[in-house]
Amino acid sequence: GRMVVAVDGPSGSGKSSVCRAAATTLGAAYLDTGAMYRAATWYCLEQEVDLDDHKAVAVAVEELPLNISTNPDHQVITVGESDVTAAIRVALISEKVSQVATNPEARALLIAAQRAIIDREGFIVAEGRDITTVVAPDAQVRVLLTASAEARLRRRGAQLGGTQDDEALRRQVLDRDTKDSAASNFTVAADGVAVLDSSELSFQQTVDSLISRVQL
Ligand code: C5P
Repeated sequence: GRMVVAVDGPSGSGKSSVCRAAATTLGAAYLDTGAMYRAATWYCLEQEVDLDDHKAVAVAVEELPLNISTNPDHQVITVGESDVTAAIRVALISEKVSQVATNPEARALLIAAQRAIIDREGFIVAEGRDITTVVAPDAQVRVLLTASAEARLRRRGAQLGGTQDDEALRRQVLDRDTKDSAASNFTVAADGVAVLDSSELSFQQTVDSLISRVQL
């Protein structure tokens, strides 16, 4: 039968690595919905779409030739002929992505695409900001993965290899949460969504806690 593990959380909560590891262990597919918003943003920039032009952004997302792999051990994201797997992680995309993510028409299109992937896979760990509430509220497992601001900054700092100064990093991580807050509010979990706070847990403990909620 269908087994959907829906995980939401803020930037730097470690949800991508946790969800990928959980999917690998479970033998499930994996969907990074943030990568879809990032790929849509990459495409808009490449097409020189004005991100303030709501209609133009919606049109670009409608024709977005996106392909995203669901193999947790081999993430490849392509837009048309371009492999954008690395390009969607650069700072410019992180800075601009909220403008696409707060566009209602663009969201509706990407949410429909996400539901189609989840339905196609059946057994999948899907992560983002609105998976437990909007994309797959009927998921068998619904988890809000949180971590204190301090723990998130520490991990994101390690992820970037300490190349950015602390203040720039703090602004980048916390500003994006603020920009996203129109679309997502993580201060309280929605009804029926379990909170998994990873602040004091190791990576493996967090993965194990997520896996333990999946009754196969
Ligand atoms: O998870 P990641 O940081 O890669 O997500 C990039 C951006 O995509 C988020 O900052 C947010 O603006 C948007 N997003 C969203 N809804 C999702 C996943 C991501 O709005 N389900």
